[in-house]
Amino acid sequence: MDKVQHIYFDLDHTLWDFEANSRETLGELFDQFEIGQLCKAKKSEFIDRYVHLNNKYWALYRENRISKARLRTVRFESTLKDFGIANKPLSRAIGKKYVDLCPTKTKLNDGAIELLNLLKDKYPLHILSNGFHEVQLVKLASSGLDVYFDHVITSEMANAKKPNPRIFQFANKKCQATADESLMIGDNLEIDVRGAVDFGWKAIHYNPSKIGHELVSVDSLMDISTLLVERGDK
Ligand SMILES: [Mg+2]
Repeated sequence: MDKVQHIYFDLDHTLWDFEANSRETLGELFDQFEIGQLCKAKKSEFIDRYVHLNNKYWALYRENRISKARLRTVRFESTLKDFGIANKPLSRAIGKKYVDLCPTKTKLNDGAIELLNLLKDKYPLHILSNGFHEVQLVKLASSGLDVYFDHVITSEMANAKKPNPRIFQFANKKCQATADESLMIGDNLEIDVRGAVDFGWKAIHYNPSKIGHELVSVDSLMDISTLLVERGDK
């Protein structure tokens, strides 16, 4: 990690606790739209089904096989359909409410703020995310993370999604950084970590589920500080 000058963080599932924040939002929408009265689904079943389908449609979005607008509706349309509700206006209404409400949630992964406080005076920090630009800005502001980052770079700005090398190239240009002085920290092995390494960056896999592989990996965010802060103190 010797040459690292710029640190790029993924946001969802890495700093911002996507799982908890999304589940809380889905639970509230389930109640608000009275989904339990429209079908026999239990709240947890509805949420689990949505999470499964959302992952599936996100993969299609990442490969540019569906649009952002389609993703936002189809994930709810398909979830409701699986519980016997064929209702496009309702799907659109829930989809809209979800993108308004979810980014206002504020739960962060353990150690996120502590790590950022340790790094902020030693390195320029940036966000590099495949999430929707306007949504990521709300998440950062709501959770108080916005103050830590010089640049917030999203796939929508770069016109390419991680692991496409063009987004890493775009990020370097934006931050006036070179590949060999850039470090990516993210939860997704293929998208964040291998994507960055393939472009010549260094990378640390935030890997709480301890997936085995040969690259640099930590179980908790605070473990990153031991890899980086000492050198920054030199
Ligand atoms: Mg992520």
